Amino acid sequence: MGKMQGAILPGNSTAELHEFDIPSPGHGEVLIKMKSSTICGSDIRCIYHEHLGKGPEGYQPGMIAGHEPCGQIAKTGPGCRRFKEGDRVIIYHISGCGLCNDCRRGYMISCTSDTYRRAYGWQRDGGMAEFMLAEEKDLVSLPDSLSYSDGAQVACGFGTVYEGLEKIGICGNDAVLVTGLGPVGLATAMLCRAMGASKIIGTEINDERVRIARDLGLFDVVIKAGPENVKQVHDLTGGMGVERSVDCSAHNQARLTCIKATRKWGKIVFLGEGGTCDFQPSPDIIHDQKTIYGSWVTNIWRMEELVERIVRWSIHPEKLISHRFTLDKVDQAYALMAEGSCGKVAVVFDEEIK
Ligand SMILES: [Zn+2]
Ligand SMILES: [Zn+2]
Repeated sequence: MGKMQGAILPGNSTAELHEFDIPSPGHGEVLIKMKSSTICGSDIRCIYHEHLGKGPEGYQPGMIAGHEPCGQIAKTGPGCRRFKEGDRVIIYHISGCGLCNDCRRGYMISCTSDTYRRAYGWQRDGGMAEFMLAEEKDLVSLPDSLSYSDGAQVACGFGTVYEGLEKIGICGNDAVLVTGLGPVGLATAMLCRAMGASKIIGTEINDERVRIARDLGLFDVVIKAGPENVKQVHDLTGGMGVERSVDCSAHNQARLTCIKATRKWGKIVFLGEGGTCDFQPSPDIIHDQKTIYGSWVTNIWRMEELVERIVRWSIHPEKLISHRFTLDKVDQAYALMAEGSCGKVAVVFDEEIK
């Protein structure tokens, strides 16, 4: 049995490399040669500084981290029905029981089985290693026209954004406000544009992230987050406010900006995790007929649909990657993501090293 390097998160603001056995795929499982593994904000929020997550966000100490993996099948176990050696695949990052009502809807994120619900990089080994074991049922095929780094971002971030946008509906009629321009906010702008949104406004507090968002050219306007934002958005939309808002910041004030800067009958979705939101139901939503949605990850059929559409739209999620690191520098990769002056951060292998 061969050995490989894999990264764990001890919870003291470091990432440590350890040696692991290369796993062998059992029935219905595949061994994946990792190609690109991106870091998610939730890795920082729940695991990196301290193991704060509970339940589905509870990291099991010693697990290989990384829940945005994309790679190539190196070996299939017995009983695989669809995928074969050499296939390029995205891994939907939660393995569910497959039999509860949520799993049957494709939302393994919400699987109700205490025994069988295990997220990659949290309760089972994830993508920050040379190889990764996955269940065949958790795979989404990666088309040849997309890179592995495009695919890695679909595994969590872009999937999550697409789900939220499908809930509120985005079309050519819409001006959209995006608050919080980390990787999720940038992905929101990229997908809103592809879905036809006619004006996209972003707000962000971190100057470096403001600069990255402007440089990427995904927004019509990027403004610094602050108390004037509601007025600024009204000024940019003929005094009416936007039709749709997406909070990716998890910040109380930014969420309130989303609510107040959305026009009558508008829709708001909260994607950013944690924090709180203080608003007054009657003036802020009820009297203006507004709807607030919450949205968590996506289901696996929608992830497949998103991949098909990303190809049709000719967009490349990897454009959001501002920094690439090889696995031996994984500690620097997490440190940069935790510090926040970056776009998306990826740990890459083989042809994805650029
Ligand atoms: Zn994630
Ligand atoms: Zn289930």
